[in-house]
Amino acid sequence: MPTPLLLNPGPVTLTDRVRKALIAPDLCHREVEYATLQREVQAALLEVYGQSEGHLALLLAGSGTAAVEAMVGTFVPRDGRALVIANGVYGDRMAAMLTTQGKPPVILRAEWTAPFEVSAVEAALEAHPDITHVLAVHHETTTGRLNPIAELGTLCRRRGVKLLLDAVSSFGAEAIDFAGWNLEALAATANKCLHGAPGTAFVIAHEPAFERPSGATSVYLDLHRYRAGAASGEPPFTPAVPALHALKAALAEHAEAGGWEARRRLYRARSERVRSGLAALGIRDFLEDPAAYGASLTSYALPEGPSYEVLHDRLKAAGFVIYAGQGGFSGRIFRIATMGALTEGDLDRLLGAIATLLAEARAGSPA
Ligand SMILES: *Cc1c(COP(=O)(O)O)cnc(C)c1O
Repeated sequence: MPTPLLLNPGPVTLTDRVRKALIAPDLCHREVEYATLQREVQAALLEVYGQSEGHLALLLAGSGTAAVEAMVGTFVPRDGRALVIANGVYGDRMAAMLTTQGKPPVILRAEWTAPFEVSAVEAALEAHPDITHVLAVHHETTTGRLNPIAELGTLCRRRGVKLLLDAVSSFGAEAIDFAGWNLEALAATANKCLHGAPGTAFVIAHEPAFERPSGATSVYLDLHRYRAGAASGEPPFTPAVPALHALKAALAEHAEAGGWEARRRLYRARSERVRSGLAALGIRDFLEDPAAYGASLTSYALPEGPSYEVLHDRLKAAGFVIYAGQGGFSGRIFRIATMGALTEGDLDRLLGAIATLLAEARAGSPA
C-alpha cells in the first residue's frame, strides 16, 4: 500500500524538496554552519508577515504545544492575570497551562459550535481590571472556526491589554496584524500551514515584552533563554537540526509560491472542492455558518451509515488519512485538512472513495 496522504491537521504530507532537506549533513549546533541556518530560518519566519522590525522569532525543539506553553509561561507575569477565551480544545489547553503554572486565569467559554462575543470579552475586562493579557486561539482546529481576532485585537489595543495568540494552525495561511491587534506574541509550528516537518516550533514576540521579568515556571520553556542567543544564532539547548533544514526549504517554497495570501487562496480552492463534492453526496458542514471556517480545515457532520472508524479505515486503505472529532465531538464529526503536498486529482480521488463507500453502505443497509 502506498503511504497515505495526510488530511489531518498536521503533520502534513511533505513536498519532495522539503523531504530531501531532512537529510542534509549532520551539524553541531555550536558551529558557525548551524548559527547561519538558525539565523536564516528566524529571518524567513519574520518575513512571512513582513515583521522584521522590533520582533524576534525564537525556535524551540518541540511541537506546537511547546511553543504555546513557552509563550504563555514567559509572557504572563507570575503575579499577572490572564483572560483565556476558549471555544475548543486549544483554548482549554492554554487555560490548563496557566493553572499548571500557578497563574489561574479568568476563562471566558463559548460553545464549541459558537463564535465568542467580543462584547463578552469587554465585559470580562471591565469586571477584572487587573487583566494584563488576553489569550486566544486564532484558528480553533477543534471545529475549523476562524475566531474573530481582528475585532478582539482592536479591543485589546483600545483597552491597552496585550494579546497572546495560539496561531499554530493559521500562521502562514491567514491574515495576522501584529500592530493592529496589540499582539505581544504568537506561537506556531513548522508542520502545519508552513508545510515543514514536525520537530520544531516557534514564538514570534515583540521585543519590549522581554523588558519585563520572565514569568516562566520552567527552564526549558523560558523564552528569555532563547532570546539571549537569537541574534547570533546560538540555541540554549540542542535544536531539531533536520527539522530546521526542512523548515528552511518549506519557508523558501512558501515565499516562492506567493506567501500567506497565496497559501490561503490555495487552501480555499481545495476546501471548496472537497466541500462541494461532499455536499453533492449529502454530507453537511458541521458549523452552521460556512463563512466561519478558516482556510486550512473543515469539520463535517458524520453521515448516516458508516461509523467514523469504518470511514477512517476505508479511506486509509484508499490512500487518505482523515481526522476524528475531539472531546464531545468524537463520533459526531470528521475533519479534513487540506494542507501539504496535495493535487486536485488527489482530492477528486478522495471524493470518489467517499462516494463508493457511501453507496455501498446505503445499498447494504436494511430498507
Ligand atoms: C495542532 C494545534 C496545536 C498543538 O500542536 P502540537 O504540535 O500537536 O503540539 C495547538 N493549537 C492549535 C490551534 C493547533 O491546531
